[in-house]
Amino acid sequence: MNLSEIFRSQSFVVSIEIFPPKSSEGDVALEKNLCTLTACNPAFVSCTYGAGGSTRDRTLHWCRHIQSDGKRTAMAHFTCVGSTRDELVQWLLEAKQAGIHNIMALRGDPPAGETSFRSVEGGLSNANQLVELIRETCPEFGVGVAGYPEKHIEAPSLEADLQNLQRKVACGADAVFTQLFFVNDNFFSFRDKCDALGISVPVVPGIMPITDFARIKRITAMCGTVFPESLASKLESVKDDASAQFEIGVEHAIRQCEQLRNEGVPGIHFYALNKSDACQRILTGLQIPTAAASI
Ligand SMILES: Cc1cc2nc3c(=O)[nH]c(=O)nc-3n(C[C@H](O)[C@H](O)[C@H](O)COP(=O)(O)OP(=O)(O)OC[C@H]3O[C@@H](n4cnc5c(N)ncnc54)[C@H](O)[C@@H]3O)c2cc1C
Repeated sequence: MNLSEIFRSQSFVVSIEIFPPKSSEGDVALEKNLCTLTACNPAFVSCTYGAGGSTRDRTLHWCRHIQSDGKRTAMAHFTCVGSTRDELVQWLLEAKQAGIHNIMALRGDPPAGETSFRSVEGGLSNANQLVELIRETCPEFGVGVAGYPEKHIEAPSLEADLQNLQRKVACGADAVFTQLFFVNDNFFSFRDKCDALGISVPVVPGIMPITDFARIKRITAMCGTVFPESLASKLESVKDDASAQFEIGVEHAIRQCEQLRNEGVPGIHFYALNKSDACQRILTGLQIPTAAASI
């Protein structure tokens, strides 16, 4: 199924994001966690495309693997980084041949140490161009794009960033998946602004369960995500206790997701970071039936 069909057929779409591990130990751990994650019955599992295009083949490998039982749906992330237009087309055709029908179309980040993105000669500069290319090359694909409730870190203003989002949707995106955030009011205000601009595709909040405070601090600093002071001090007070951090993170995510669901979001995209415990606990807490619970 492609993204449009998924959102048409389900009233609440849960998706889970993983990344291709860099080691054989990571592969083994993901294999195990993927079983638990898919038992939570997500509508689809998405797999990231490594920084600098470093996981070109492994992204497709994991997407093929997700779909190998013929019942699960995958979405492959794809960025413009380091590829010419022809190379991007080549990869899209490979994805199509591998049976992938959904692509998260992204520009990608500048290489480490650089603050601005530079496309390669003959390459693309922005995600909206990639959406256009997908629509030309594989029009039947489902296309997701990134949205930033708290503004993309390079954008001069939220308004300019929203105009970019509007452009990506006008080029043919089927759904928007947001950057992680912890303050729901920022998402609701972003959603109102999307509505005002006539962005009518599903805008799906991205939630990252906090399982490790130090790691989440690094991630939020990188993406410019607002981290509430009250949550930070709660986590700081248990900074040497991994299981207490996990419990606080899970509780926060359950409350965040409950409020989002009550406010009518079309689904939730979970940044699982290749772990399964937190997502499983959150989905159980939200009483979204998992395969394990329905046996
Ligand atoms: C859900 C999600 C999944 C992600 N998955 C991955 C992944 O798998 N791999 C990876 O490397 N990264 C991933 N990222 C990170 C993403 O690549 C970065 O945030 C990147 O810096 C921007 O990508 P984008 O697609 O949003 O870019 P764009 O939409 O192109 O926007 C990038 C910046 O340029 C501005 N802009 C765009 N078009 C124009 C224009 N025409 N004129 C002026 N300004 C413009 C925007 O406002 C924004 O500031 C993901 C992000 C999200 C939210």
